[in-house]
Amino acid sequence: PAPTGATTRSSTASAEWFERAHRVTPGGVNSPVRAFNAVGGTPRFMVSGRGAWLTDVDGHDYVDLICSWGPMLLGHAHPEVQAAVQDAVTRGTSYGTPSRSEVELAEEIVARTPVDQVRLVSSGTEATMSAIRLARGFTGRDVVVKFAGCYHGHVDSLLAEAGSGLATHAVAGTPGVPAASVEATLVLPYNDRAAVERVFAERGSEIACLVTEASPGNMGVVPPEPGFNQFLAETCARHGALFVSDEVMTGFRVSRQGQWGLDGAHEGWRPDLMTFGKVMGGGFPAAAFGGRADVMGMLSPQGPVYQAGTLSGNPIATTAGLTTLRLATDEVYAHVDAAATTLSTAVGEALDRAGVPHLVQHDGSMFSVFFAPRVDRVVDFAGASSQDTSVFRAFFHAMLDRGVYLPPSAFESWFLSAAHDDHALQHVIDALPAAAEAAA
Ligand code: PLP
Repeated sequence: PAPTGATTRSSTASAEWFERAHRVTPGGVNSPVRAFNAVGGTPRFMVSGRGAWLTDVDGHDYVDLICSWGPMLLGHAHPEVQAAVQDAVTRGTSYGTPSRSEVELAEEIVARTPVDQVRLVSSGTEATMSAIRLARGFTGRDVVVKFAGCYHGHVDSLLAEAGSGLATHAVAGTPGVPAASVEATLVLPYNDRAAVERVFAERGSEIACLVTEASPGNMGVVPPEPGFNQFLAETCARHGALFVSDEVMTGFRVSRQGQWGLDGAHEGWRPDLMTFGKVMGGGFPAAAFGGRADVMGMLSPQGPVYQAGTLSGNPIATTAGLTTLRLATDEVYAHVDAAATTLSTAVGEALDRAGVPHLVQHDGSMFSVFFAPRVDRVVDFAGASSQDTSVFRAFFHAMLDRGVYLPPSAFESWFLSAAHDDHALQHVIDALPAAAEAAA
């Protein structure tokens, strides 16, 4: 049952749980953005999810536009995924030996993407961390190039920020990361070909790899300029560096083949290494990195580059992921794309009517709204950072009060699922006029 009408919903039980959580967990959460730090207020503690909806401990329903930050492409509690998982659980939950579903999931990934081989891990962070190690092991070089505003998990060397001025040298993005860990990381502005050319001209022979989000969704949605990924792949190839395309967020979400399906498949180039996560785990901890056979062949036990994991290829996670991918047909992607178009158009119209300056940016079904940006188009992190986050805050809370759970940060993509039907979309659309007024 959907909630109706505008209410200021009590969050008494969530507040009690949050207080309890604070006593035993720093900030009361197990991943920072969940704490509402950017928007203030009480995060809602969820007790169940079904289709496009979440229900909290106070008994309120929300249309979920986070989808667990990407994984829930089919919606919550999909009956076929649930049945497959329930069946798998009856046969035990972890063997620590090879098993069939991990091979089948790897086959599905290899069939959909340009990688020759994959290694399964348990999180996107592990995937990028391992891909970087492999790139360094393969090339015998140390330097890693990344872009400001791209997030690749909490890997020390990738939690780097751009240095001041024109310097590309990284500074640690958090206490706890030694300067030495980011010494070999160079940070460039996204979509900036000249900066890429310059850094490869100066340091090309030292660069192990360039890693990028295939289409950034972690500074808001900032798609690559046409041809940018191909340019990166070719530049890396010219200098003997590896091109690592991080598709943890976009993989199996923006198309059957991820972002590569949108910009690589037809142009005839491919990344040397790719990372995957989120959708491929079907809501369980499963992720992967993969790529060229000669590079993957360097990985232990075939080659010398060490990498391992107690729960890697876990039978429950791989069953959920495999079932999800098998159900993620062209129709699913068409539905999610159409839902994103409907919703983002409605958001834009409501903000226009209320006179709120904004910019909606898309990549396939991923989109985000920049509130009061000081640029016409956001192409990099500086542009993304030019928005007025206080405007987003007002909009966010007005939507939350009306039963819509948006990502609680102005720098995140909004996510939809195959379960976001007309009813769920209409519920969001009905909430928009008041939220746009609140933001005005
Ligand atoms: N890479 C990208 C592009 C991501 O969006 C994320 C997570 O949001 C990660 C890597 C890290 O994945 P995980 O949170 O599973 O460690």
